Amino acid sequence: MKYLSEFRDKNLIAPLIEEIRRLSTAPLRIMEVCGTHTMAIFRHGLRAVLPRHIELISGPGCPVCVTSAAHIDAFLHVATEQGVRVALFGDLFRVPGSDGDSLSLVQSSGAGVEVVYSPMDALALAQRHPDEMVVFLSVGFETTIPLVAATIVEAQRKEVDNFSVFSAHKIMPPALTALLADPDLGLNGLLCPGHVSTIIGAAAYEPFARNFGISCIVAGFEPVDVLQAILMITRQVNEGRAEVENGYGRAVHWQGNIRARQLMHQVFEPVDCQWRGLGIIKQSGMAIRREFAHFDAEKRFAITLRETPEPQGCLCGDILKGKKRPVNCPLFKGRCTPINPVGPCMVSSEGTCAAFYKYGAS
Ligand code: SF4
Repeated sequence: MKYLSEFRDKNLIAPLIEEIRRLSTAPLRIMEVCGTHTMAIFRHGLRAVLPRHIELISGPGCPVCVTSAAHIDAFLHVATEQGVRVALFGDLFRVPGSDGDSLSLVQSSGAGVEVVYSPMDALALAQRHPDEMVVFLSVGFETTIPLVAATIVEAQRKEVDNFSVFSAHKIMPPALTALLADPDLGLNGLLCPGHVSTIIGAAAYEPFARNFGISCIVAGFEPVDVLQAILMITRQVNEGRAEVENGYGRAVHWQGNIRARQLMHQVFEPVDCQWRGLGIIKQSGMAIRREFAHFDAEKRFAITLRETPEPQGCLCGDILKGKKRPVNCPLFKGRCTPINPVGPCMVSSEGTCAAFYKYGAS
């Protein structure tokens, strides 16, 4: 496949590994911010080919994993309201709330719960079911938010009265600021999330390189992309540089997608937001603006997020901060498996615990 097979070419991969091994002589801690990177690294066995002193740490870039338990409980509450049908992306379907229920379980008890592939599918669902209120339960970062914004604009244009969005959206830069402010993390470099970067652009990471002295490499998701980015970090560290470099030029522009950001800010505005594991981070969530309040499920259902404890024993919070690994969790592979997940990191296809489980990592 064009633009894919060449990035899996062993004739390109082997020299990259060789060069990393040659140049890397001291311990390096690199965080792959994005859950898709975590999965790619495991799927292609990249940990095994790197020198042992290069440590790859998973970060907070799985949107389902960082959605707070309070939000999951509120989603469940909306899903069980009379006359409501909720629509959601599949990753959210089996995430347990604080009492062990999930959207999958309430669906089997008769609640209207539909998995969709895009927010526009949810809008179409509302048009097909005018007697129900269709609520799109939306989690996601900058990659997803413009699509939801476009859907809300379209719902307004078409005057679809029975459609609303429950926004648990988050934006990445405030979370990275909160993470990097923790001196215990001791990171040398970030593999910056490729998908999010298509929207925010490589330029968005300049404050992190400048203020935290950390190499920031925007990376794609194929083995050549990831290894190339690790090599770029290795070179920067060896040369005493901490800069932003774009290793994913075929998808990411330096300034990102300005039109998508305009659309996002037309419909949403930043608000303080609760992240699983990271607590409340200022101006890190995206709420629907007053002008579009008619499509805001939180307002239509007068929802107040409650203080909700994390599942007992679950270390998802520390894993999302890069402080623990799934194997440190006493529930890993015992009480918590992909069939019976306790926390979201075991449910999501981008979750670190799911990756460790699937690929037998330690
Ligand atoms: Fe949470 Fe399960 Fe991961 Fe433990 S193994 S941190 S319980 S998701």
